[in-house]
This record gives sequence, structure tokens and C-alpha cells, in this order.
Amino acid sequence: MYINGQFTNGKAQERIEVINPATDEVLGEAARGTPQDALAAVEAARAAFEGWRRLPASERAAALHQIAGKIRGRHDELVCLLTMEEGKPLPENEEELWWTEETFDYYAELNRHERGHLIPSGEPSQLNFVVKEPWGVAACIVPWNYPLLLLAWKIAPALAAGNTVVIKPSELTPLSTLKLIEIAFDHLPPGVINVVTGYGPEVGEPLVTHPDVRMIAFTGSLAVGERIAGLAAPMMKKLHLELGGKDPMVIAPDVDLGVAVGGLAYAALINAGQVCTSTERVYVHESIFPKFTEQLADQVSRLRLGNGLEAGTDIGPMIRDRFRDQVHRQVEEAVATGARVITGGDRPKVPERGYYYQPTVIINIDHSMRLMREETFGPVIPLMPYQDFDEAIRLANDSPYGLGASLMTHDARLVKRFFEEVQAGTIWINDPLTDNFAGPFGGMKMSGMGRELGQAGLEEFFQLKHVHWDIEAGRKDYWYPY
Ligand code: NAD
Repeated sequence: MYINGQFTNGKAQERIEVINPATDEVLGEAARGTPQDALAAVEAARAAFEGWRRLPASERAAALHQIAGKIRGRHDELVCLLTMEEGKPLPENEEELWWTEETFDYYAELNRHERGHLIPSGEPSQLNFVVKEPWGVAACIVPWNYPLLLLAWKIAPALAAGNTVVIKPSELTPLSTLKLIEIAFDHLPPGVINVVTGYGPEVGEPLVTHPDVRMIAFTGSLAVGERIAGLAAPMMKKLHLELGGKDPMVIAPDVDLGVAVGGLAYAALINAGQVCTSTERVYVHESIFPKFTEQLADQVSRLRLGNGLEAGTDIGPMIRDRFRDQVHRQVEEAVATGARVITGGDRPKVPERGYYYQPTVIINIDHSMRLMREETFGPVIPLMPYQDFDEAIRLANDSPYGLGASLMTHDARLVKRFFEEVQAGTIWINDPLTDNFAGPFGGMKMSGMGRELGQAGLEEFFQLKHVHWDIEAGRKDYWYPY
């Protein structure tokens, strides 16, 4: 762990083994942190807060630029570790690292811009302004699927705004987080950034319920998000929740089939489908459904499964066997109620070790199946035909989630209807899953609250204070006696 500027095992008596999902071998281990370790990290962050928040924004910006530079200096090493720890192929981890580096630069610059604003006063003798202040100690709780990128989306704006931070990485991927801290954060004052490793109930919950943690920035599953919200609500904490998704893609009849098939395969299968914004439900116009299905199955069946470190690997393993089992159960249940697997649908024979699942295309499905209602988080593409665009929009909105939604078309009238009527935090037209530093990222409905990235992603880490100042300090005629 990393507490108050020191790497430490804290009070941990036990270690958690970290497994390489491509080989099923032990990659390393991390301390199984205890509630006392979480408290020590909060104490360090609380003690560092006053000093950090009072630094000029330009000095915090310089510190963030330095973080970005140090990460770039050890880029390849981090890409390699991330690949062994999380499993996705090297090019996808190159991308994750690039995003991580750029995020620190982006928020370093954005936060130099302004710190509040002047508002109109009631009287000429008065001055009214709004000051943005950091919350204090922010707990940043992160999942395993993009351990560094999702961390950067939280801690870069948190630190820029003047908060101090306690990070809780996933117990499945703590090594890349600890390595990142070792490489890039040693110039920060002790306590500004802290990491506690371990399990959610043991170190996550003590952070969530600690009175000195005023803000919780969490990315993860809906179930854990609900638990955190329940614990934090009575303490009136600021919550920033990025939860699960069940993202739809609608394929209009006018598309170039090759382009639409390529875009969908990428959107559904990147990181073996373990992306919150993975396309998990696909609605294809009935006029092109048979041809589209055939071309998609052909492309998907030619993708190469393998160790992410090997050149030529398209799809790596899933993170753990138990997650693979969950995906397979959804597929089996769908098949038992009438669905038909066109390609994939099982664990592959090769590679023999590791938690691979065949990229799968499946048809004859409907919304009664778990595969179309619950998050799958695996490399499965369920296809359903639709007759008209009203039906496509109704189906796209028929989910408790509202994270992202994609449309493939050249028809501007369909685009307008889609972005106006589909309930999702991000709408992608013809280029699914492409994020933008300045574009707010987050979910509607049960996919969460708050936004990351962009100005909105910085504002989350501020609270507002209104200052009303009467400069002349004279007696007011509206005071007593009436
Ligand atoms: P998870 O909810 O199991 O765990 C996320 C983090 O929360 C981990 O660090 C975990 O240890 C911690 N945690 C678990 N129980 C806790 C508790 N009681 N109190 C405090 N912390 C606790 O999620 P996961 O399996 O790591 O990640 C996959 C999920 O994350 C998927 O549902 C996916 O959709 C979601 N996700 C969402 C986004 C987004 O931006 N919306 C991005 C990536 C992943």
C-alpha cells in the first residue's frame, strides 16, 4: 500500500495473490489491507489537505504535468504490466496508457482557467461571488477493467481541484496502480495521494463511512454502487457513481455492411467485452438482418484469441474464470429458451490455459432473456431484427441502464431522432466507443450519477460557496426594529 508517502504493508497480515488471466499463473501479490489501514490513509490525506488546497493552481498544474511526464517515461513497462495483470492485448493497453498520460495534462491545464465567478449584487456597495472549493478527502474506488485510465479520470481532476485522495484499486489489479504510484507520484507531498489495497468490504467500506471522507468517486458494478450509496446517503456525502451498462447499437438499413460489421465487432469485443460501454444488444433492420449476421459471424470467427503480449492477438482472456462462467450461463440460458449460436458460444480448446471465451454471435433472442436485460460483460453479440425506427428506439430504451448507445447510419433524420429520444449519457454515431477528453462521460438511469472527463468531470470535485460582501458595512434599514 502507499500511505503518507511510504510504501507499507500497514496492519495487513495476509497477502492477495494477483493472477495473470492469460496463463492462470501468479503474477504477484498485494497486501490484504485492513480497516485500520483505510483509517490511516484517510488520516494522512486529511492532514495533507490544507497544504495541498492552498498551493497556487499553477503549482498543482506543474505537479500534474510532472506526473504525466513520468508515466510517459516508463510507458512500455506499464503497458506490459497492465497486459499481464488485466489481459487485454497490447494495443489496447497502449491506448489506456496514452489516455492516462493525457488526462493528467488535460486537467492540469483546465484547472488553471478559473476558480469561480462574480455574480450581480443587490446593492452597489456589495460584492457577490461564487468560490469553488475542494471537498477535502476524496475516496476513489476503481474496478479492474481499465485500472489506470479510470483511476486517472478520477484522481487528475481531484488533485487539480485541491482534494487529497485515497485510492482503492480492485483486488484483481492492484499491481499496475502501485507501480504507477511508484513511478509518477513521489514528488507530491506525503498524504496527498494514498493507496489501500484489499477487498471492498474490508478497506472500501471503511473509506465510504469515514466522516472525514466527504466525497466518493466510484466506478464499478450497480450492486456495489447501490451499497455505497446506501452507506453514504445518511452522511450526506458527495457521490460520483459510474456504474454498469447494457448499451444498445442500432444498425439502420442504409449502412455499408462492412463498416457496420467492423464497428460492431470492435464495440462489442474490445477488452473481451469487458467494457462498461461495450455494445451488448444489437438491433439490425430486418431487410439486412440475414446478410449482416452472416458477415458479422464470418469476421468474428476469424478473430484470434490469445495472450495479450503476443503480436497478432485480437482478443485476450476474461479477467477470471468465475466471470467467464457467468457469461456462459447467460448464453446457455438463452439457448435453452430458443436462441441460436451462430459462432462461438463456449470456452475454446486453444489456448488451453487462461480464461478465454470464444467471441460469440447469437440470434433468435428477445428481451425476456437475461442476456438482453443484465450486464453480460463478456465477448457476446446478441442480434435482434427490428421493423421500423420507432421499434428500434423503443427497444434501445427498454433497459434500466443508460450509459451509452450507438447508431450506424448516413440518414441525418434518424440521427436526430436517436440522440433526442434515446436515454443514454453518450450517443455514438458511426464511431462507437470513441471518447473525447472534453466530452462528459457517464450514465443516465441506473448507470450512475455525475460525469467524468471535460469541465463536468472537474466540477464534480468542487463544492460551491457563495460569498456576499457588503464593503461599506453600514446599518441596514431591514434590520430590527421593524
Ligand atoms: P465491482 O463493483 O465489483 O468493484 C469495483 C470496486 O469496488 C473494486 O475496487 C472493489 O473492490 C470495490 N468494492 C467492492 N465492494 C465494495 C464495498 N462494499 N464498498 C466499497 N468498495 C467496494 O466492479 P468490477 O467487477 O471491479 O468492475 C466491473 C463493473 O464496473 C461492471 O459493472 C462495469 O460496467 C463497471 N464499470 C463502469 C464504468 C463506467 O464508467 N460507468 C467503467 C468501467 C467499469
